[in-house]
Formats: sequence, structure tokens, C-alpha cells
Amino acid sequence: NLYNMVQDLKGNIRVYCRIRPIFNAEAKDVVDFIGEDGSLVIVDPSKPHRDGRKVFRFNRVFGPLATQDDLYMDTQPLIRSVMDGYNVCIFAYGQTGSGKTHTMSGISGELTKDMGINYSALNDLFELSNRRKDNITYDIHVQMVEIYNEQVRDLLAEDSAASRYPLKWIILCTSDGGLSLPDATMHSVKSTADVVNLMKLGDMNRVVSSTALNNRSSRSHSVLTVHVQGKDVSGSILRSCLHLVDLAGSERVDKSEVTGERLKEAQYINRSLSCLGDVITALAQKNSHVPYRNSKLTLLLQDSLGGNAKTLMLAHVNPERDSFGESMSTLKFAQRVS
Ligand code: ADP
Ligand code: MG
Repeated sequence: NLYNMVQDLKGNIRVYCRIRPIFNAEAKDVVDFIGEDGSLVIVDPSKPHRDGRKVFRFNRVFGPLATQDDLYMDTQPLIRSVMDGYNVCIFAYGQTGSGKTHTMSGISGELTKDMGINYSALNDLFELSNRRKDNITYDIHVQMVEIYNEQVRDLLAEDSAASRYPLKWIILCTSDGGLSLPDATMHSVKSTADVVNLMKLGDMNRVVSSTALNNRSSRSHSVLTVHVQGKDVSGSILRSCLHLVDLAGSERVDKSEVTGERLKEAQYINRSLSCLGDVITALAQKNSHVPYRNSKLTLLLQDSLGGNAKTLMLAHVNPERDSFGESMSTLKFAQRVS
């Protein structure tokens, strides 16, 4: 039952791995085994017989047949803890094409069974806030920004052109120790229909700004932040937030092949993903110094990484043979923090 599931969340950092289906029937699959216990065996296609088998272990592994619901079942306890005042960060990591956006957004703006975590999470928050009988009233607001080349842009500005310009003020400390993005528009949401509309607007603004540069959406981090505020009859307030992050593609670019803008992008992405890895590793090892200040991404997520906050990393793997190198690097990154 749910209570036990919440109790089961050992520690504050969990790592799930999701293996995407293979769409090309000819492609070879490098994932050899997926265990109920969270283990995964991957085989190096160049050494299929000996030395090529590598075992990884995570909190859970979801295979190509796992549905959005299967994944959400194991994410729901975290979402519910947001209502109890915990800050939560869920982020999707992996190379471009590995299924990050599928997991987080699902089919954009459409209400189907393929809706991703972003939608299911908000749906749950609304349901819980309506169902609570303890005289607490909840307000739910969302912001959505993207971080591109270390610049933060508002994806929910009504005037989509505005989203092309970086926010002047990035992050402010609030009086209760939290962080906020004061310049990003904050939208009050009351129903899942509101959320679907905002997700559409956010995706549209992302596309608008991507025309200048090829496939921008995989070169930027997008962060959907849900602010939950609960107020009881005496007027005391409980605040928490949930960050839902679709990270930029983690693939390494070959420095000898890219130049100019593309190289700059790649360097920004590599740097911010490695900062994120450093922060999570420091937290997992309970280091006294956590290097939040090294990137906009970790600065923005600071209130939901560490302390009492709960973090879930969703490592995405494309199991095709051609992606073996990237898959190994994703699995190693994820292993480092689990
Ligand atoms: P990313 O955001 O990591 O670049 P996408 O989420 O866009 O990757 O996934 C690439 C393609 O694969 C999309 O067409 C997506 O719909 C599909 N896809 C990814 N994961 C799954 C899955 N688990 N089941 C079905 N289709 C998937
Ligand atoms: Mg994507």
C-alpha cells in the first residue's frame, strides 16, 4: 500500500533506468537482461563473448514494455510527499532520442494514455488537494523555463517573443530560504486542463525559439516548476516545490567535427550536466560541501536537491547497438549517484 511505499523510499536519492523500445526491427539490442531487483546487463557488441558483459544496478529498471503508468506507479509516492511539504526534483537524463521527453511530457498537449509524469503529477496534486479534509487550502502555481547556454528563458510568457530573451534576474533567495525565479511568469493552475494548455504554450515557445538553431529542444534543459502552498485555518503556511526537468541530450560531440555555435552549446551542456553529477554525487556521499553554484541548473534546482528534498533521476537508454557508447556513459553517470 501507499504508506509502505513511502516508507520504502530509502534515502533521498533514487535512480530508475528506463530502456526505450527498439523501433527499427533490424537494429541489434545491447540490453541482455533486466531484473526485478533493478539490475541490468548490457553487452558490448564488439566483445559479445567475453569481457563484454557489464552489470548495473539501480533502484528499478523499466524495460521497453513498461508503460507510462508502470513508471508513474513508482513515482507517485514522491509526488504525494510534495503535499506533505517536501521539495522534490525529478529529472530525465540520457542522450537525444532515448525517451526523456516521452517520459516527462508524453505526447505533447494531448490527453492520451501516453501522458507523461508532468501531467500525472499535476493531476495527482489536484486530486489530493481536493480530497484533503484537514481544512488546509492549497494553491498551485507553475513556472516553466529553459536553460540554454547558461541563460534562463521563460517558456510561459504570453508574448512568445519574450521567451527569446534571457531573464535578467535569475534567482532570488526568498525569506523562507527557498529560491525563486522572480522574472519568470507564474501561472495559477486549478485543473489538469489548465496544465495541458500551459504545457502546449511552453512547448510552442520552445519551438519558436528553436527555429534559429537546429533542434534546440534537445540542446537545452527545460524545467517545469510546481509551487504548492498549503494554508491551514490558523493561517500558517506550508510551502514546497516540485521540479520536473527534461535535460539536454547527454551525448558527447566530437570536438574535431563541430565548431562555432554548436561547439559552444556542447560545452555548456557538458559542463552543466557534469555539475549536476557533481552535486548529486556530493549529496549521495554526504559531503559537507555541495557545489551548487557551478551552474545555473544546479542553482535553480538547489532547493530541491539535498537537505530534506527528494530526488529521482530517470536515466534513459536507447538499447540499439549504435548507441552502446552513449548508453554506457549514461549508465555510468547514473551508477555514480545511486
Ligand atoms: P529524447 O527526449 O530523449 O530526445 P524522445 O522522448 O523524443 O527522446 O523519444 C524519441 C522517440 O522515441 C519519440 O518518437 C518517442 O515518442 C519515442 N519513445 C521514446 N520512449 C518511448 C517509449 N518508452 N515507448 C514508446 N515510444 C517511445
Ligand atoms: Mg526531448
